[in-house]
Amino acid sequence: MAHRTERQARATIHVGGEWLEAVSGATREILDPADARPFAVVAEGDEKDAERAVAAARQAFDHGPWPGTPVAERAALLRRVAGLLVRDRERLGLLESRDAGKTVEEGRVDIDCVADAFRYFADLVAAEAPGRVVDAGTPDVHSVVVHEPVGVCALITPWNYPLLQASWKIAPALAAGNTFVIKPSEITPMTTIALIELLAEAGLPAGVAGLVTGPGHTVGATLAEHPDVDLVSFTGGLASGTKVAQAAAPTVKKVALELGGKNPNVVFADACATEEGFDTAVDQALNAAFIHSGQVCSAGSRLIVEEPLRERFVTELARRAEKIRLGRGTGEGVECGPLVSEQQRAKVEAYVASALAEGAVLRCGGKRPSPAENRPESGYFYEPTVLDACHREMRVVREEVFGPVLTVETFRTEEEAVALANDTEYGLAGAVWTTDAGRARRVAGRLRHGTVWINDFHPYLPQAEWGGFGRSGTGRELGPAGLAEYRETKHVYQNLAPKPVRWFAG
Ligand code: NAD
Repeated sequence: MAHRTERQARATIHVGGEWLEAVSGATREILDPADARPFAVVAEGDEKDAERAVAAARQAFDHGPWPGTPVAERAALLRRVAGLLVRDRERLGLLESRDAGKTVEEGRVDIDCVADAFRYFADLVAAEAPGRVVDAGTPDVHSVVVHEPVGVCALITPWNYPLLQASWKIAPALAAGNTFVIKPSEITPMTTIALIELLAEAGLPAGVAGLVTGPGHTVGATLAEHPDVDLVSFTGGLASGTKVAQAAAPTVKKVALELGGKNPNVVFADACATEEGFDTAVDQALNAAFIHSGQVCSAGSRLIVEEPLRERFVTELARRAEKIRLGRGTGEGVECGPLVSEQQRAKVEAYVASALAEGAVLRCGGKRPSPAENRPESGYFYEPTVLDACHREMRVVREEVFGPVLTVETFRTEEEAVALANDTEYGLAGAVWTTDAGRARRVAGRLRHGTVWINDFHPYLPQAEWGGFGRSGTGRELGPAGLAEYRETKHVYQNLAPKPVRWFAG
């Protein structure tokens, strides 16, 4: 089967079932973050390409077969896509690793999770009742509530989990019977392009799936404001998410926003009373903060540790963080890849500099790896960094760094721990570590975050909703609510014995 490498490389815009170059003819080089060298060229779409893609998706929704395709057939297609993802796991895992800089094992796990999302939404729609009959209080009325697709969906995704974030939108959008146009991050479009090819291979009718590669301020903005788009689902940063919401407002389209996080990892001393407990909590704090070099919306970037435990915990954490093996994602034994771009690394460096200026104490990292340590130097690498003695007024504690930077704050009471953990404008995720079951439930109940882990960090389930409180967003992905985003609800009231009302006498 033909894959993108065999195609005309620049034709990465998918409209009405055709692969096209940008209307302007512009292209963009896609860089490998491990060596800063280009490894692919894609079309650089703009407003015109977005317009063209929306028109095709509108046509496919208004006149094509997909919205009326029986649910069982839609579910079967989603399952075929999952099968193709399993078949192509190695190829796609490698591509994700190269594009986003993650280790190839992380890339493979991402592909497994993408397949899980397709399977989950297939099972969810297949098991549903076709409508909810409502008791109207009289046998003369048949009243039913049904769900219908929203229409044309604009899906805008970030660079850190390019295909996973795409799948959390594409799978429910298709399951519900919508057509869509996706705009992946301009710096990591490769696996989204590959997925659109797989959708066609699985038998999705032409025009249902649209793709425009290109920048946010042109392609993304056009999709968000377009009157023929019925829903925009956006995953990305707070600043861009705010613009998307503003652009969508005049046409009152449905908006779902999955934005950033500043996620607390609260460790009570009792969790570390045994050596095993200590080892587990440190190990998971390391994972929480540094997996994918911290470029994770739910990264546990704020360690909030009970004061008597702090020195021992942070010393061990820094010792282990220093040993994390950086390198190209495909390298043998590599545990962490580079940051995604020079711009991202510069942002991280600026945060670390500001933290040190504000009084943070550097416990490890805080720099690019030096060549003398036989670590890579041409890619966008940055050492895992632990900043001790942080406090809530520091920018590095308040704002999303999105890099391998962990800040350390301390508390003395449960009340203080909760107050610190909730002291953020975000509210995506957080964790509490304790062996006291009552405390675990109390703290979990009080945390104002969309996901709360007790004695764990990072796992999610496709059947459980994912999303944020506060400025981490609106709406939910995954779970039944993640499907509901892509639907309109309609009440059909049928009078079985119509008679005149005689409200008006004349
Ligand atoms: P970003 O906001 O810079 O870009 C995200 C996407 O939006 C890209 O495709 C970009 O081109 C597009 N975009 C940018 N400006 C736009 C505009 N004005 N209109 C329409 N689209 C526009 O984010 P990023 O740097 O790619 O990703 C990192 C961010 O994503 C972090 O803040 C992270 O927390 C967040 N994120 C959140 C979740 C979640 O589930 N809540 C998951 C992954 C990433």
